[in-house]
Amino acid sequence: MSLANKLAEERRGRLAAERLLELKQAELSAANRKLGRHAAALQGEIVETRAEVANVRTENERVRSELGQANQKVEVAERRLWHSVQTITDGFAIFNSDNEMVAANASYLAVFDNLDVVRPGVNYITILQVLTDEGIVNTGNLAPDDWRQMMVERWMQSAPEPITIRLWNDQYIRLVDRRGQAGDIVSLGLNITESVEHEKQLKAARAQAEAASRAKSAFLANMSHEIRTPMNGVVGMAELLADTGLSEEQQLYVDTIRNSGEALLVIINDVLDYSKIEAQKLQLHPEPFDLERSIHEVIMLLQPSARDKGLTLLVDYDLFLPTTFVGDPGRIRQVLTNLMGNAVKFTQDGHVLVRVIGVPDADTGEAQVTITIEDTGIGIPEDKIEHIFGEFNQVENDRNRQFDGTGLGLAISQRLVSLMKGEVWVTSEDGVGSCFGFRVPLTMSDEVLPAHPPVPDGLRRVLVVDDLSANRLILERQLEQLGLGVICCANGADALRHLDEVDLVLTDHNMPEMDGLELAEAIHASGSTVPVLLLTSNPTFAANDPGAQHLFGIAQKPVPRAELFSRLQSVGPIVAPDAPDTAAPAEPPVVEEVQVQVPDTPRLMRVLAAEDNKTNQLVFTKMIKDAKIDLKFAANGLEAVELFQSFAPDLVFMDISMPKMDGKQATAEIRSIEAEHGGHVPIVAMTAHAMEGDDQGILAAGIDHYLTKPLRKAEIHKRLSAACPDAVTHPFAQKESADHAVG
Ligand code: ADP
Repeated sequence: MSLANKLAEERRGRLAAERLLELKQAELSAANRKLGRHAAALQGEIVETRAEVANVRTENERVRSELGQANQKVEVAERRLWHSVQTITDGFAIFNSDNEMVAANASYLAVFDNLDVVRPGVNYITILQVLTDEGIVNTGNLAPDDWRQMMVERWMQSAPEPITIRLWNDQYIRLVDRRGQAGDIVSLGLNITESVEHEKQLKAARAQAEAASRAKSAFLANMSHEIRTPMNGVVGMAELLADTGLSEEQQLYVDTIRNSGEALLVIINDVLDYSKIEAQKLQLHPEPFDLERSIHEVIMLLQPSARDKGLTLLVDYDLFLPTTFVGDPGRIRQVLTNLMGNAVKFTQDGHVLVRVIGVPDADTGEAQVTITIEDTGIGIPEDKIEHIFGEFNQVENDRNRQFDGTGLGLAISQRLVSLMKGEVWVTSEDGVGSCFGFRVPLTMSDEVLPAHPPVPDGLRRVLVVDDLSANRLILERQLEQLGLGVICCANGADALRHLDEVDLVLTDHNMPEMDGLELAEAIHASGSTVPVLLLTSNPTFAANDPGAQHLFGIAQKPVPRAELFSRLQSVGPIVAPDAPDTAAPAEPPVVEEVQVQVPDTPRLMRVLAAEDNKTNQLVFTKMIKDAKIDLKFAANGLEAVELFQSFAPDLVFMDISMPKMDGKQATAEIRSIEAEHGGHVPIVAMTAHAMEGDDQGILAAGIDHYLTKPLRKAEIHKRLSAACPDAVTHPFAQKESADHAVG
């Protein structure tokens, strides 16, 4: 190889080496740069980490200080809790899961009389052992071993039942033990000695009270029964005695015995009922009955005492409520009699209003029937309202003292109503009046609601005359529900101004200024032919009044709905030939075209009875109650002679012994009047002196027949039939003709 070549090759080698050097230097500086960057990044990380470490340190210090505070608080709380536990008088202890005592308060330890063994660390089994060995616990019927066995078994349960143990000194401790999650047990020992003693006393008192109550009920039931048996004898015999020949005086005595006996029986029945209810032996006997009729029957019973006081008895029976229900009629009547009887008893003037409402539920076939009895009586002081429902409780004040009674009526009524699943209540204002009410669920015996009874053709407007607004309202509502137009007037004078607008007048009897009979007379005198129906609480009395001849009819107040409807029926039909359209009931009829078609009935037989004794008048009235006659009473011979002239009777019943003028004299007077004016009216003597030969004297005085007292119904009826003139309605004629009769 040439030198040049060698040089070239060397140069080429040197150049290559230089290039490689350059390359390596470039790589080295790149690596240096990278290293520099890494070092910088590492530096940053070190700074950050240092800052974080500083933070963590501060945080640690804060947490440590808070922990210290919390520990302090826990200690305080623990101290307080323990202090509290120490102060409670009941025992408190904690056991761990190995049944070793962790802590116990002073009360717990006191039971062990501060025995050294019983302290924290002691096992529960040892505690039981100490209790029996030291005689601290009274194990009763159980042997100490058995008792401990029983207690250990209980203790081991996951949720031991509380148990009461008795200590040697008759202190009672109720142990309540609760197991916690880690198996710890908190044990409470509550000292219940006082409660146990109290309970014992209560039990003894209750047993005593129950025994006394049983003895009382048994005594009442026995007494009532014992009294009732002889009383039935007394009343029964008095009744039989009353049917034998007695003098007037004897009759009075017998009646008194009977009435007093019956009054006593009512009281005894009350007491018997009450003790039966108390002993839960009273049972209801449901059967179909007519509620409205029951109310009217009670009204009839109370009517005489109400009439004596001048009280008005009113019934407002919801027109849309059926009257037949299934219930215990006897017991419902008993409640009604109690409440309505009280209302009459405690009311001196005004009215007693019985209101019946209820909404029938066709789905259940039941109605919640509400009956209220409102009176205008003495009322009940507010603080006595609760009191009066208690047994034998009465309002004791001046106003009340005059009334008798057992004080059992309301207590019985309340219990009877609650037996019927109902309720009783009262609202009252002292001195103003009371309203007693009760509500009972009753099954409807006939689920069909009463249809509207048809009113007679042409009867569109009725005039209601009554001074009592409650009564006007009741009648107005009942008549309006029948589709009739109603005009109400509070007095006769006002009524007379409306005669042309109505087809019928319903008037009350007793009203101030112009009474119902005077109104009928005035209507007649005015030339009006509008029929007048008199509503009275004393039909016999009203029928005997001369004004009665102007009446279309007389109805006993309060009028049951059915009777009111049938009275309305008997008015019609009212013919209005030129106005046949009866579809608009509220339209007043054209008065000139209205005629009342009253059947052509012969008048009633007029009978005069001279009798001074009120009871005998009543007996006489009762005996002829079935006879359709026009009856008047004279209270003595003089009155009999006067009435003979003004009343022109067809028959006279004449009592012999009467004040002012006796029967014989009166008969003589009558016969002498007849001698002058002609005629001969049969006179029948009623005498208690049926002695031998007496009849001769009586007959000699001009008397045709005589009846001896006690009077017999059949004899009186025979005399009535025999003396009835041809032209008058026979007293016992068939019902059709009698239906139109007055009275
Ligand atoms: P009695 O009527 O036999 O005394 P009750 O139990 O029926 O017994 O009534 C208790 C008391 O409630 C009555 O004595 C009376 O004081 C009072 N009382 C009851 N009903 C009425 C009433 N309608 N008005 C005023 N007081 C009444």
